[in-house]
Amino acid sequence: MNSGIRFDGVSVAYGGTTVLDHLDLTVEPGEVMALLGPSGSGKTTALRAVAGFVRPASGRVFIGGQDVTALPPYKRGIGMVVQQYALFPHLRVDANVAFGLKAQKAPKAEIPARVAEALEMTGMAAYARRYPRELSGGQQQRVAIARALAIRPRVLLLDEPLSALDARLRSGMLAELARLHRELPDVSILYVTHDQVEALTLADRIAVMDKARLQDCGTPQDLYRRPRTEFTASFVGNANLLPVTVAADGVLFEGAELKVPAADATPGSTATLCVRPHLVGLGDGPNALRGRVTEVQWRGSTHRLYVEVGGHRVKADVRELRETPALGTEVTLHFAPQDAVLLGAGVADG
Ligand code: ADP
Repeated sequence: MNSGIRFDGVSVAYGGTTVLDHLDLTVEPGEVMALLGPSGSGKTTALRAVAGFVRPASGRVFIGGQDVTALPPYKRGIGMVVQQYALFPHLRVDANVAFGLKAQKAPKAEIPARVAEALEMTGMAAYARRYPRELSGGQQQRVAIARALAIRPRVLLLDEPLSALDARLRSGMLAELARLHRELPDVSILYVTHDQVEALTLADRIAVMDKARLQDCGTPQDLYRRPRTEFTASFVGNANLLPVTVAADGVLFEGAELKVPAADATPGSTATLCVRPHLVGLGDGPNALRGRVTEVQWRGSTHRLYVEVGGHRVKADVRELRETPALGTEVTLHFAPQDAVLLGAGVADG
């Protein structure tokens, strides 16, 4: 069954305020698309438009090639999991999982087997007769996922499904979700999160949202290595964003000439240079920057150095630091030209 999702110019407004502005986005069949962005950027609204809980002011939503814009939620073939589980407290686990099947009027004789299958997939078969209050948060979320899967959805909508769990449970559940995705290769998944680690770990592609708009969309690797906007660079992974001026053969930063790829940029225009902290080395090298150490943080596998270069703070994540530099020491940092991305530069006409 074709299961992709397509937003075609979808806008949503509440009381005259546009909270989703002309969203065009396609989730391929079997793809996991993360909607990543800060709180209030319109992610949940986009998901609710697919579910049918909000009606777009304009635009259309397609599931599996079918225009579902006017269909009620229960006819859309979607499974949905939200942050707060939303289990029925007075129903046992099996009855919770059966709920959607009954609402869909699935043949009665089929229901027990479908419930058992969904509980099996989520590792909850042994808990079928418990009440939600007799389960941990992580177990309740598994039941919520089982309930969403029981209807054999074409599309799975996950709205911050891990944010109510503590850090250790969260990473276990991330691995579980990745396994479920492998077991359900035909189901398209739209995954709303403000957590870049979840998006980078699970998603085939990430749609970056800010201020009601889609800012960027690409594979995690693309967005990380070649962000197209400052917003993406700072929201997907950590970044040094340095104000620079484009020169003939690179850029100028605090009086230093840096060699970076700046093919089409107009000399003299201002731009932002993005360099990931783990690609900044300590010591002499190409694109050397001199500055003073203002802070050193030990992070287990790396040391994070904060170095003041001119008026700017440059972050470097350094492995195998032989000697921790004292605060105030002058040091040299460097990075390879190909590890820098120039953002927002003016482009010469023609
Ligand atoms: P996100 O999921 O990115 O945090 P939402 O899609 O939930 O963002 O919300 C986007 C904006 O729409 C927010 O400013 C929010 O306050 C507003 N909003 C969401 N739901 C409603 C509603 N039912 N009525 C009015 N405003 C809403």
